[in-house]
Amino acid sequence: MISLAQLDLNQKRVLIRVDLNVPLQNGKITNDARLKAIIPTLKFALNVHACVILMSHLGRPEEGVYTEALSLKPIAERLSILMNQPVRFVKDWLEGVEVKPGEIVLCENVRFNIGEKANDLSLSKKMAALCDIFVMDAFATAHRAEASTVGIAQYAPVAAAGLLLSAELTALEKALRDPKHPVVAVVGGAKVSDKCLLLGSLLDKVDTLIVGGGLANTFIAAQGYSVGGSLLEPTFIAEAIALLARAKNKGVQLIVPIDAVVAKTISETAETRISDLTDIATDEKILDVGPKTSQLIDAIIQRAGTIVWNGPLGVFELSSFENGTKRVVDAIANVSAFSLAGGGETLAAIEKYGVSEKISYISTGGGAFLEYLEGKTLPAVTMLEARSTLKAD
Ligand code: AMP
Repeated sequence: MISLAQLDLNQKRVLIRVDLNVPLQNGKITNDARLKAIIPTLKFALNVHACVILMSHLGRPEEGVYTEALSLKPIAERLSILMNQPVRFVKDWLEGVEVKPGEIVLCENVRFNIGEKANDLSLSKKMAALCDIFVMDAFATAHRAEASTVGIAQYAPVAAAGLLLSAELTALEKALRDPKHPVVAVVGGAKVSDKCLLLGSLLDKVDTLIVGGGLANTFIAAQGYSVGGSLLEPTFIAEAIALLARAKNKGVQLIVPIDAVVAKTISETAETRISDLTDIATDEKILDVGPKTSQLIDAIIQRAGTIVWNGPLGVFELSSFENGTKRVVDAIANVSAFSLAGGGETLAAIEKYGVSEKISYISTGGGAFLEYLEGKTLPAVTMLEARSTLKAD
């Protein structure tokens, strides 16, 4: 890929696709991590007198329909505070954007345009015509082939990777291509059906794979235990058996919880108890890993050279079931191993326990992070690679 750092951006119209898809509640931004993550790219471009145009999506509007609740306007305001300079918001931009060197313009939600999701050719060409240089910095949207991520990169005069995109890929490569061993992956979360591909792909890359959370129940059942009323996907038991067998054949340690915190209902006031796997009643649910499991995980993390983490180990949103997740977060935060975390609820857990400074790299990507770990190629990255050698069509 061409990096924006290799290019002469002076006075050029530099259109940067960023991911400003931040969580909003009643029009207020509840987490601005994705805004902070693009600041290095913006400062780099502004310092060399680029004319900066930003594009992003927000939520999932119906194409062709303007929805005020999904306007990027409040995001322009927050970004301007973070950048300490005005961020001019433009609602209608497809026919052309006026922008001066050193200025930042933010275009309204790209997903209001018909053809964005389908990576429509004429929309892509129109977007590409807005710039001299296209910079892809939306790692979190790099797994989607849309007009503003892939089509534009195909038709822009020059297409390059931004600093955030490069940093994300470097962190993923550090963890997976040439990592310090032992490599330990911790995968939690709700459903095994969502993460089967991920688990299978990680088995080829790690020395130890630890499963926790709701998805571990299917592995517990695969070992012949009854999981009572726990979240279970019976149709995936065969898959779990196959993964356990594959791990054994490959000499990969696959760690399944050995005890659990159980309760009859998922509520803060539910009576809880710690249970061995042989002892779970039919009306009980596994809602967290137990203390013996946490101790085992702690010991593995202490010895790790590299740690990849996705997904909570229990229903961490409720204090009765947060211990397993809290302990794994603390363990990861307090070792010197290179640690990489990402994906949805993982970031919420890191934030809850206030350890973000102690994780080596926290990905801004949810789906993109997981798809990369699953071994899939990210279409926007593939296009940037293609554009490193090809001229625009
Ligand atoms: P995911 O988006 O797949 O990472 O799943 C995250 C969700 O899994 C969190 O909201 C947790 O509350 C939930 N979760 C974790 N462990 C369990 C469990 N044992 N039973 C039910 N849900 C769980």
